[in-house]
Amino acid sequence: MGRAFVYVILGGGVAAGYAALEFARRGVSAGELCIISEESVAPYERPALSKGFLLPEAPARLPAFHTCVGSNEERLTPKWYTEQGIELVLGTRVKSADVKRKTLTTAAGETISYKILIIATGARALKLGEFGVRESDAENICYLRNFADATKLVSIIQTCNGGNAVVIGGGYIGMECAAALVTNRIKVTMVFPEAHCMARLFTPKIADFYETYYESKGVHFIKGTVLSSFENDSDGKVTEVVLRDGTRIPTNMVVVGIGIRPNTGLFEGQLAIEKGGIKVNGRMQTSNSSVFAVGDVASFPVKLFGSDIRRLEHVDSARKTASHAVSAIIAPETISDFDYLPFFYSRVFTLSWQFYGDSVGEVIHYGDFVAGRCGAYWIDKGRIVGAFLEGGDRDDYAAIAEAVKLKMVVKEKGEVEELGVEFASRAARHRESGAGLVLEKPLYAWHAVAGVAAALSVAGFAYWYGTRRRRW
Ligand SMILES: Cc1cc2nc3c(=O)[nH]c(=O)nc-3n(C[C@H](O)[C@H](O)[C@H](O)COP(=O)(O)OP(=O)(O)OC[C@H]3O[C@@H](n4cnc5c(N)ncnc54)[C@H](O)[C@@H]3O)c2cc1C
Repeated sequence: MGRAFVYVILGGGVAAGYAALEFARRGVSAGELCIISEESVAPYERPALSKGFLLPEAPARLPAFHTCVGSNEERLTPKWYTEQGIELVLGTRVKSADVKRKTLTTAAGETISYKILIIATGARALKLGEFGVRESDAENICYLRNFADATKLVSIIQTCNGGNAVVIGGGYIGMECAAALVTNRIKVTMVFPEAHCMARLFTPKIADFYETYYESKGVHFIKGTVLSSFENDSDGKVTEVVLRDGTRIPTNMVVVGIGIRPNTGLFEGQLAIEKGGIKVNGRMQTSNSSVFAVGDVASFPVKLFGSDIRRLEHVDSARKTASHAVSAIIAPETISDFDYLPFFYSRVFTLSWQFYGDSVGEVIHYGDFVAGRCGAYWIDKGRIVGAFLEGGDRDDYAAIAEAVKLKMVVKEKGEVEELGVEFASRAARHRESGAGLVLEKPLYAWHAVAGVAAALSVAGFAYWYGTRRRRW
């Protein structure tokens, strides 16, 4: 026995929610679309889990942060799906897929068939056990990827007030969780093997600014070493974290953020895989024309980087790849290849940063790294390819986004360092006043106008999204 749908979205996270909204807007008929998710709740804005959800007072709770409130769109509650005639198959893991037969088989043995499949399986948190750490499933060891993880983390936090926590990993999740733990009056030690936090993006100078800020909040950093083992009490709870250099850290709880692995497993050997993700073209279409992939699990060509294939792990790209895929499915003749400016952000304590583009090439820092209005440009082959800013305002974020989108030429590095955000803003003003573009090749006027308008709208949205004091 099984069910059949025209469209099936496999996975019920951020991308699934945004895809559902786009399907509804494009007039999907009742009974045509089904979303299958291992999670027990309808799609929600996952970034809320490390932000508003962990607050000690007035925390964000569902249904407040169902997609698509993160983009100030409709909030898609379970009732919304029912009203649209979209089947939500929750608490259901798909255990195998056959793209030739166009079928999925659930863990309960049901076969669900489709005409078009959108893979939105995201990624899973890497576990310590995968690195050979024993006793790594104690009840006071927490991960943070999904709603169930966040619910467990909140309940452990509530038992640790005034106590100690060790955060393993200095990336996105580690940094955001450490801030949340401090806000919950828990003393935090962060442990990671790199020389500084957020090593994949931050330069030593940027990292130093954040580490100094965290230290002012009482966070202790132990860098350049890794976890070796745990000491547990008779209930099996971790009481001490033992590091490879022999350091022992007494603790009441442990939070682990050591990276993610895209959920490609069901499709390996069936679809092309690249850069760890399911490879798609500019329409989010995989090597099988009936199958699309979006969000964290998809590797797609980024036009801005010369169509280099990239797999991004950020909410903005999950939302936009999802909408683009649905548009490409329903109205292919109206859609051109996905043209994306990579963007991500974080908010911790009272800090807030945004990054656009690619962190390759030479770095030029600018601004005040004490007061906290500071940033960096990444320059490759004489052009700006990446831009980071902490503590900017609306116009600042719009300007740096535009600088990356247009790949502004840098003639004088000293000028860029001195002017900082103003370098990008000044160029924008020059363009607006018709004084010409700071680009090597002349562009036709309409290209320039369209480019500026598109960049401003992306940047305007990004600023608005990143700086609103939402709690998710
Ligand atoms: C705590 C946290 C905070 C974050 N904060 C930020 C941030 O501040 N800024 C930012 O840019 N990004 C942030 N991110 C990243 C962002 O949330 C992800 O990029 C985004 O969720 C990716 O969306 P997705 O739909 O591709 O995957 P997901 O949202 O992970 O959804 C995947 C879904 O597929 C389901 N699934 C997987 N396999 C199966 C299966 N076999 N059967 C059934 N269902 C399955 C999963 O259960 C899940 O529901 C954060 C992520 C986390 C975890």
